[in-house]
Amino acid sequence: MKARIVTLPGDGVGPEVTAAAVAVLDAVAAHYDHTFDYEQHLIGGCAIDATGEPLPADALAACKSADAVLLGAVGGPKWSDPSAPVRPEQGLLALRAALGVYANLRPLQVHPALTALSPLKDDKLRNVDVLFVRELTGGAYFGAKTRTVDTATDECKYTVVEVERVVRRAFELARGRRHKVTSVDKANVLETSRLWRSTVQRIAADYPDVKLEHQLVDSMAMLLLTQPASYDVVVTENLFGDILTDEAAALAGSLGLLPSASLGEGARGLYEPIHGSAPDIAGKGVANPVGAILSAAMLLRHSLGLEEEAGAVEAAVEHVLEHGPRSRDIGGDAGTAAIREAVVAALDEHV
Ligand code: ATP
Ligand code: MG
Repeated sequence: MKARIVTLPGDGVGPEVTAAAVAVLDAVAAHYDHTFDYEQHLIGGCAIDATGEPLPADALAACKSADAVLLGAVGGPKWSDPSAPVRPEQGLLALRAALGVYANLRPLQVHPALTALSPLKDDKLRNVDVLFVRELTGGAYFGAKTRTVDTATDECKYTVVEVERVVRRAFELARGRRHKVTSVDKANVLETSRLWRSTVQRIAADYPDVKLEHQLVDSMAMLLLTQPASYDVVVTENLFGDILTDEAAALAGSLGLLPSASLGEGARGLYEPIHGSAPDIAGKGVANPVGAILSAAMLLRHSLGLEEEAGAVEAAVEHVLEHGPRSRDIGGDAGTAAIREAVVAALDEHV
């Protein structure tokens, strides 16, 4: 197949890990006889430096007409003044909104060879395989904000349509997995959560083959640590999802390992590792590219429909995590390029 992929390497370690993901996509293209055309654009701090804007119009236009977007990371100390008129993160929020990618998917698995890096004990980590589905374009992050000298407000608003579409996506995804959805809210206190819960209950009727449970977010924060293996698909609103997915990421041992996909209507999606720009290690060639490479696997699966290819990339990453080389964040001393080459070699061997 032919596909057009926009790359947005961004700031910090973004360019290093994105290059590794592209190398793996190139290896996939060669093996399976696909043609991937890349178009690279600026986003974040590097875009502010070059154009004054965190998401230049040509970058946005390219993303809107591409089959998929692969992003590195945005931000860094150079642009971190919260009172600056433009900030790198605005570019990413604007891109998510413009692409309408309301469902943020973050899979969490704990590789058996890496359990020693996790704060939880081995027995708790066995069979952990959770897919978080976080609502990404609504709630408190996008509501009206006010500020006077002594008072501030952030409006948290959800419409039924906004809840419905992300919850349906969660149920659909559960059908391809272990047929269980855990919906997380704070329905004992928040009106938006009561709307969320009643909407989830109504939609669940269309999926009698999927088991549904509700959890309050405070208790979910605890359950993720005490029984992480009991969850399959976890769906929640924007703010709760932001917090719970960072908590979940800590269970995997390193931020550098985890991918994400942001999806809307249709096949187009935005794919990025969950880590940030990691300014402390940027430019040193030591960043772990696994999160970016697994994001490319999600791109193959969700935007291009290439399930077999996605599985091959995931298997190659598994092989490297088990046999090495390993990057510094997971206890090794290999650099980004060595990991990239090892994943490509494992792909060559197994395809
Ligand atoms: P942001 O504000 O952009 O989300 P953050 O505060 O979440 O950033 P990160 O940039 O993700 O922070 O980095 C947190 C820590 O994890 C840093 O010490 C960084 O070096 C480390 N880290 C992040 N990504 C990687 C990676 N790919 N490989 C190795 N270490 C990483
Ligand atoms: Mg962060």
